[in-house]
Amino acid sequence: MRQLETLAREAQSFPQAAPAMVEQPVRWHGRGAALSTDEAEVARVMQICNACRYCEGFCAVFPAMTRRLEFGKADLNYLANLCHNCGACLHACQYAPPHEFAVNVPQAMAKVRLQTYTEYAFPAVLGKLYRRNGLALSLATAAGLALFLALTVMLTGGLFHAPMAGNFYAVFPHNTLALMFGAVFGFAMLALGIGAARFWRDVSPGAASGAAVAEAAHDALRLRYLDGGHGKGCNNADDAFTLWRRRFHHFTFYGFMLCFAATCVATLYHYLLGQQAPYPFWSAPVLLGTAGGIGLLIGPAGLLWLNLKRHPLQGDAAQKPMDRGFIALLLLTSATGLALLAGRDTGAMALLLAVHLGVVMALFLTLPYGKFAHGVYRSAALLKWSIEKRQPDKLRLGAD
Ligand code: SF4
Ligand code: SF4
Repeated sequence: MRQLETLAREAQSFPQAAPAMVEQPVRWHGRGAALSTDEAEVARVMQICNACRYCEGFCAVFPAMTRRLEFGKADLNYLANLCHNCGACLHACQYAPPHEFAVNVPQAMAKVRLQTYTEYAFPAVLGKLYRRNGLALSLATAAGLALFLALTVMLTGGLFHAPMAGNFYAVFPHNTLALMFGAVFGFAMLALGIGAARFWRDVSPGAASGAAVAEAAHDALRLRYLDGGHGKGCNNADDAFTLWRRRFHHFTFYGFMLCFAATCVATLYHYLLGQQAPYPFWSAPVLLGTAGGIGLLIGPAGLLWLNLKRHPLQGDAAQKPMDRGFIALLLLTSATGLALLAGRDTGAMALLLAVHLGVVMALFLTLPYGKFAHGVYRSAALLKWSIEKRQPDKLRLGAD
């Protein structure tokens, strides 16, 4: 105990030695070796946790931590993205605030995660803009694009019309839609790909075996580390465990994937089978899209509810605009999509279509800068952990 306290005091002292930046001998590729204040705080708490190790079984962060004696920038970005912010180690920690050591792993990790979204973003300026004003930027982009498309419809044929039996292409020709969304989707994938490649290069994990890839995919798709390490779930508002955070994430992710599948199937219908939209309610694209839309309504609504009730010590208050911006766009995407499906045989179809397309474009444009990117970096961190745990421990500390 005395040893731990000595270590903790030493660890506590180093951020104060240089509040803005702390020089570390780091394995950091390309962007210098200095740690930011938030990174130095994660390094401090990791030094304390490395001496304590009470939370070793909670998630992958702690066993990954024990493979290190010092924490450079690349290590901290990796550990921060490996953390799923389940809150378990905050509520279990005897050194959490108000203890003088003030160990708060989830909050410290959340701050560094936010930093990684900006640092790895392409182009960086959009990452910074979204980081500061995520909610306002998301809503303004969606409203601006919806207004632009509605005005285009108004000038070309009128917003209100005789029912067109759900024929979207009478409002926006198929090729125009394919060009618009192809460009926006292509940009989003390029920006996300560049960010992920930067992150991957910095964490330099080594070659991935098939077993490591399969394990990481399994852990990412099941959100294994949102079970709190004991299977009962996360802490959200207090000491009580809940599995709802994991469930709402699953509704959101699989709802998104079903909507994506609906678009892919509709594309196959169009180009391979020569069948043009509108498709009947019982067709595969409409059934997939409806199921996905319902999932995307339930998941983000639940995540927003949990986000509003979240214990203030668990997360980073500065990240809330980003969280809520992404949640708001997902909710608007599903709500406007389901409204379009319900109203596609009415005279308001053109207006409903313009609003839905504006929201979807805003969602794609902001994907690389918001919470969607965290899924990409977190999956990469899980893969690194699956690779790393199969490698010999360079510290050679026996049972460690
Ligand atoms: S979070 Fe607290 S209890 Fe858990 S390992 Fe770190 S210092 Fe120990
Ligand atoms: S908050 Fe949860 S996932 Fe993050 S380090 Fe603590 S126990 Fe692990």
